[in-house]
Amino acid sequence: MTDPFGFLRIPRKAVPARPVEERLGDWREVYAGQALLPLVSEQADRCMDCGIPFCHTGCPLGNLIPEWNAYAAHGDWRAAYERLHATNNFPEFTGRLCPAPCEDACVLTINADPVTIKNVEQTIADEGRRRGYQAPRPPERRSGRAVAVIGSGPAGLAAAQQLTRAGHRVVVHERADRIGGLLRYGIPEFKMEKVHLDRRIEQMRAEGTAFVTGCDIGGEVGAAELRHGYDAVVVAVGAGERRELAVPGRELRGIHQAMDYLTCANRVREGDFAVSPVTAEGSHVVIVGGGDTGSDCLGTALRQGALSVVQLDINPEPGPGRADGEPWPVYPKVYRISHAHEEARGREGSDPRIFSCATLHFEGDGAGRVRALRLTAVEPMARRPLGGSERVLPAGLVLLALGFSGPERAGGLREQLGLELDERGNYARDAAFAAAGGRTPGVFVAGDAGRGQSLVVWAIAEGRSAAAAVDRHLTGSTALPAAVAAHDRPMTALGRLRYGDG
Ligand SMILES: Cc1cc2nc3c(=O)[nH]c(=O)nc-3n(C[C@H](O)[C@H](O)[C@H](O)COP(=O)(O)OP(=O)(O)OC[C@H]3O[C@@H](n4cnc5c(N)ncnc54)[C@H](O)[C@@H]3O)c2cc1C
Ligand code: SF4
Repeated sequence: MTDPFGFLRIPRKAVPARPVEERLGDWREVYAGQALLPLVSEQADRCMDCGIPFCHTGCPLGNLIPEWNAYAAHGDWRAAYERLHATNNFPEFTGRLCPAPCEDACVLTINADPVTIKNVEQTIADEGRRRGYQAPRPPERRSGRAVAVIGSGPAGLAAAQQLTRAGHRVVVHERADRIGGLLRYGIPEFKMEKVHLDRRIEQMRAEGTAFVTGCDIGGEVGAAELRHGYDAVVVAVGAGERRELAVPGRELRGIHQAMDYLTCANRVREGDFAVSPVTAEGSHVVIVGGGDTGSDCLGTALRQGALSVVQLDINPEPGPGRADGEPWPVYPKVYRISHAHEEARGREGSDPRIFSCATLHFEGDGAGRVRALRLTAVEPMARRPLGGSERVLPAGLVLLALGFSGPERAGGLREQLGLELDERGNYARDAAFAAAGGRTPGVFVAGDAGRGQSLVVWAIAEGRSAAAAVDRHLTGSTALPAAVAAHDRPMTALGRLRYGDG
């Protein structure tokens, strides 16, 4: 076990990020290349091994946090690696990408600083892989059943790995030219280097999971036809329907959806282009949208050599501490500084965000290209424009990071599988992930497609639980774990936790 008085002896110390100047000069992860084991072992020793580990309430995976903290504190990396993988297929993803609601739920947060759970998770995952523990785990027996997974984001990958290991023949069908969903083309390299994704895909292939790319189910490949070739289907197509900004001037050149911009930047890292076709280099950049997708655009634009970058947020600036309606262990909406904000502050000397403001229109240069954005301040809650507060920002590149409103409406997938939409515009399913309205039984929905825009950790949790439901459907029982039901909600004031909240 950990030292029961460790937290009194040892102050919290998070893994330090590389200096801003250094990381703006490359695309490597902000924490790349550090020797972390002694620091992380010491930090894991701060865990109190609580009788009721409230950190668990923050994590949909049911991660066994005090157990792996104890193993990490004693340097038993194999045992720590095994316990970590008991509940999470891809801890190297969550260790890098998760906003760590577990830390906000840690008992130490009541009157001290929480355990650095996320750092411990990443270090166990990386150290275990380095020591060779990430070997393929193919099934001992084949079931003779076949499952099609549609979509290769974290939900589809987690479902596929669980089902393959349970002995089923699994084929992942992905519309894009590479596997990974938003892990591949949304999330920038400086948050997670793609080598981690590639290693997992390699492991999954070696276990027997098959992948087909460039395969648009519901488009050139009929979903109903696919359904007949498999005993079950997992729909894990994400929530790709982008929100638009319907203001005058939207049609001008130089205004792009954030996902198009981030995809191009990621394709440069993959070697598809030498230079991004949509680059911030030499431009004044305005990002419309105050969430973390906007923050990813910010970090990307700074690395591409933008002249200036501003990020607009219609919401008021959050306070520094928990509001009354967000007591511990709820994940609170507080003022947070991402690595990209830190980089902008380091380069430009001030925070790039403007809160409580709305875009009125875009101005063109006479040749059809955007040159400026006119905005107004808005009342904090009612969001009504405040008279006399208008101003103009120079803008050679505008990025719309306004979030998503459910799975894409275009394409024949929904129609062909007979899927229904719920009241929020996501694919409806029952508590055990079975699609509502599916014309034939055996269709399941996992990840953002059913939950709406969410987090990697929820996508993995849903993929695992959906796999258990599929296994039960195919064999009548299952030994696969299912930590969440489809209708479970994260512990936040609003009962939802999207990438960008908080
Ligand atoms: C820019 C950005 C950055 C983010 N960063 C973070 C972060 O740092 N931390 C975090 O926790 N969360 C983050 N998120 C949220 C997180 O990435 C998502 O919640 C998660 O990826 C959802 O996983 P998913 O598997 O449900 O869907 P996705 O990852 O969206 O994958 C769905 C896949 O389905 C494919 N597909 C769609 N339709 C079809 C079809 N008809 N046929 C075949 N394939 C199809 C798509 O091409 C895609 O590859 C971010 C989101 C964005 C947009
Ligand atoms: S709540 Fe914090 S201190 Fe308690 S077991 Fe979890 S990580 Fe350790």
